[in-house]
Amino acid sequence: MTMELVMVGTGSPLPDPLRAGPSQVVLVDGRAFLVDCGRGALMRLAGAGISPAMIDRLLLTHLHSDHVTDVNDLITTRWITGFPAAPLPVVGPIGTERFVEATLAMLALDIGYRIDHHDDLEEPPRVEVEEADDGLVLDDGEVRITVAPTDHRPVHPTVGYRINAGGRSVVLAGDTVPCEGLDRLCDGADVYVQTTIRDDLIGQLGVQRILEVRNYHSTVADAAQTAARAGVGTLVLTHCVPAPLPSQVDEWISMAAEHFDGEVLLPADLDRVPVG
Ligand SMILES: [Zn+2]
Ligand SMILES: [Zn+2]
Repeated sequence: MTMELVMVGTGSPLPDPLRAGPSQVVLVDGRAFLVDCGRGALMRLAGAGISPAMIDRLLLTHLHSDHVTDVNDLITTRWITGFPAAPLPVVGPIGTERFVEATLAMLALDIGYRIDHHDDLEEPPRVEVEEADDGLVLDDGEVRITVAPTDHRPVHPTVGYRINAGGRSVVLAGDTVPCEGLDRLCDGADVYVQTTIRDDLIGQLGVQRILEVRNYHSTVADAAQTAARAGVGTLVLTHCVPAPLPSQVDEWISMAAEHFDGEVLLPADLDRVPVG
């Protein structure tokens, strides 16, 4: 069994020429679990050699735009490149059903054009949504996925995921401050991926709208302390605000290392992290 984390997009809401929007894939023996689908995710998936048809499930942590901008692209591209297209299973917090319905409504004209044009396209894309807040969302004997509530208030509800397979585990936390649900997900995990900000740098900016993002994200210290408390093996920092230049990556990592003895990574897009 092989389990690998692919950093599809390591960016944040702020457009970045080097970092696509938040998105990761967990590969379990070739099965691809896509967690969030931010700006440019499909372009990066192509770079990783992962086609939309290969996606086993889309797992959404929350419905903030930066985490879902490319869901419409995933739905459309999976549909028009599948022969025939399999339904897209989507798991997400309460609100995901509404989001998917609205996305399909937005795509209605395009769906009509394509069905009219192609003789073998007879039905619109199918999306199967499961809204989840706490507990098991998949256990098929090979892969086990659990979900737990996170704390990104005032954005609510939000969730994180833990994917277990063959005795290995990876946690995709999404945007959250430290909380009980996150601790539960992370307990003893091999790899923990956390969206992270530097409140010290953001605090210097003096722009109220930017200052407000400090309230509902994990800082580097928060993420490292969660990692230490849970005894994880590797902490992966992503969705970093402000985006670190390559020359600043070591500083972020050493700030985390003040609180956590394990491995700390701050990957680039398309970097791969072995799990376990
Ligand atoms: Zn968010
Ligand atoms: Zn975000």
